[in-house]
Amino acid sequence: MPRLKVQDDLKDLMKKYYQSLSSPIAWCTSAGPAEILRGLGFDVYFPENHGALLGASRTAQKYIPLAQRVGYGKEICSYLTSDIGAYLAGETPLSRAYGLTSVPKPDLIVFNTNQCREVSEWFNFYGRTLGVDVVGIYPPRHLEEIRSVDITQVIEQFHHLIEVGERIVGKSMDEDHFREVVKLSGEGSILWKKILETARHVPSPLTFFDGTILMAPIVVMRGTQECVDYYRLVLDELEERMRQGIGAVENEDVRIYWDGMPIWGRLRFLSEIFAENNACIVASTYCNSWIFDDLDPMDPMRSLALAYTRIFINRGENYKLSYFKEMIKKYKVDGMIFHDSKTCFNNTNSRFGLPARVEEELGIPTLVIEGDLNDLRFFSDAQTRTKVETFIDQLKGY
Ligand code: SF4
Repeated sequence: MPRLKVQDDLKDLMKKYYQSLSSPIAWCTSAGPAEILRGLGFDVYFPENHGALLGASRTAQKYIPLAQRVGYGKEICSYLTSDIGAYLAGETPLSRAYGLTSVPKPDLIVFNTNQCREVSEWFNFYGRTLGVDVVGIYPPRHLEEIRSVDITQVIEQFHHLIEVGERIVGKSMDEDHFREVVKLSGEGSILWKKILETARHVPSPLTFFDGTILMAPIVVMRGTQECVDYYRLVLDELEERMRQGIGAVENEDVRIYWDGMPIWGRLRFLSEIFAENNACIVASTYCNSWIFDDLDPMDPMRSLALAYTRIFINRGENYKLSYFKEMIKKYKVDGMIFHDSKTCFNNTNSRFGLPARVEEELGIPTLVIEGDLNDLRFFSDAQTRTKVETFIDQLKGY
């Protein structure tokens, strides 16, 4: 299947984003309060996007040992180890891709532990090393239900972040600008949701692998007009594919849901296995994680606190099971794959019995594959191919 035309525009968009980053710059986690930082006047850089680039460019393997040499364990987050290793080597794939001499220097570093404790260790390394203020947002974790007291705690922490940010930029936050950023973030997020939901169509015009590429703007540019404009183009192209009945996978026969991290260094390898077997991964927890449909410019602080606290990775296993139930129905899923990512315990949902509960309670076959987001020492091409092809045959009823 030919690539989506909009993928060609993405390279220019990302180049523009990276080349335009200028002081004051805040570093932020991927599901951190980027809107507050933009509202304060910061440009925002996301180390996790850099981590994904290290994985996708397969340079992570060179850098992970450098972080291990200074004391970071081999089974902790390989975004962290590849990113810190690249820093220690004084190298970045941003040089080759966008002509940057180094990653942008931060004036403030912000993380949200809504996804994991590892971001605190990762971002504090840079705070110590670079001598930059670090602000952590620590929401209540692993929630089955969200109570208003949970949100109030997060809002209080956002107020502290604003105080620190205002001191660094030397002026008060412009409320109108902040609301505008939240409005644009909400618009981008709703467009992203519509893009992913085109995969409800049979055949699906897009795969999980397309999603992992197309998601870059909602991660690094949410809250900007450029993100909104780009996603309008993406949606137009996907809707055109739907009108013409063009599927992303030829002769789509099987529809699969992917849970867990992408395996960045093996996206093409995996996408080819599924395509060769007429199987389409139509939806994923990972791509869905940047749908923030609570954002409300009329109540920006509360809606941001809610959006970033209720994300899937921050929820209890009963909630997660009910979420899978909704996704399986919505996307007409035949089977589910759980990626057991060896260095990301937090974004791995196969270790407390969820696959068995999906099979028993939702009646859907599951497969667990071992791998990792960046560290390919944990991934076997041959074993994965065999497991995936056998699973697809099982779904086809062979
Ligand atoms: S969620 Fe996983 S991959 Fe992401 S920063 Fe945390 S440990 Fe690393």
